[in-house]
Amino acid sequence: MKLKVLGCYGGQLPGKNLTGLLLNNDTLIDAGTVGLTADIEEQRAIKNILISHAHLDHTGGMPFYSVNIVSNKTASVNVYGSQFTMDAVQNHLMNGVTWPDFTKIKNFAGNPVLKYITIEPKVWTAIGGYKVMAIPVNHTIPTVGFLIGKGNTYILYSGDTKDTDEIWVEAKKLGKKLKAAFVEVAFPDEVDFLAEASCHLTPKTLEKQLRKLLPLKPKTYLYHLKPEYMKEIKKGLKKIKGFKLTLLDDADTLKI
Ligand SMILES: [Zn+2]
Ligand SMILES: [Zn+2]
Repeated sequence: MKLKVLGCYGGQLPGKNLTGLLLNNDTLIDAGTVGLTADIEEQRAIKNILISHAHLDHTGGMPFYSVNIVSNKTASVNVYGSQFTMDAVQNHLMNGVTWPDFTKIKNFAGNPVLKYITIEPKVWTAIGGYKVMAIPVNHTIPTVGFLIGKGNTYILYSGDTKDTDEIWVEAKKLGKKLKAAFVEVAFPDEVDFLAEASCHLTPKTLEKQLRKLLPLKPKTYLYHLKPEYMKEIKKGLKKIKGFKLTLLDDADTLKI
């Protein structure tokens, strides 16, 4: 699996883009950033988008991306998420008022630009050659993380969450097939009250999650850091021993 980081931060500052990971050129995991860091050919090649939840830092790239791909001469781009997420995108993001509804606008092949597809939680679903499982996590609004892969290679993507259980239980069932985990860590321990109120992880609560995966210790890539707390979060992460942790950065490309 090949992964390109279009954005991996939990806040926006120059050079720090909101979350969007491009998997094998054709599948976008969250759409906080699309058009700012993917060129037009990369955008045209996207066939499926997995949305963890409706917050703008995970969906806000989609309205402008949708305009860019009206000239696609292809099938619709499939946008997958929970019923709650798909309803929120339809009713509050691209609702025909704040932005056009791109499920009603046709691309150059005559297909709707976007198609919204509800993904059942905790069921393996075939999406673009992968098996995908959406698993509810613990955030301020209904949110899912994902297990994604095929054959012997799977990745975990946590979505936005505080302390949670189900995703680690399901991931553990993959055993050695779980090659990498992408896990959020948004705040430093010093402001754990903010993390708790906004349902995010700090280095301390991250370590607690990683222990739930033991004895599995997949390579762990950390994302969704709030850029204003980078220094403090890094300090906290240094105290976590015995795990293979890597901080993601925008424009990183990974082979898994
Ligand atoms: Zn969120
Ligand atoms: Zn977020």
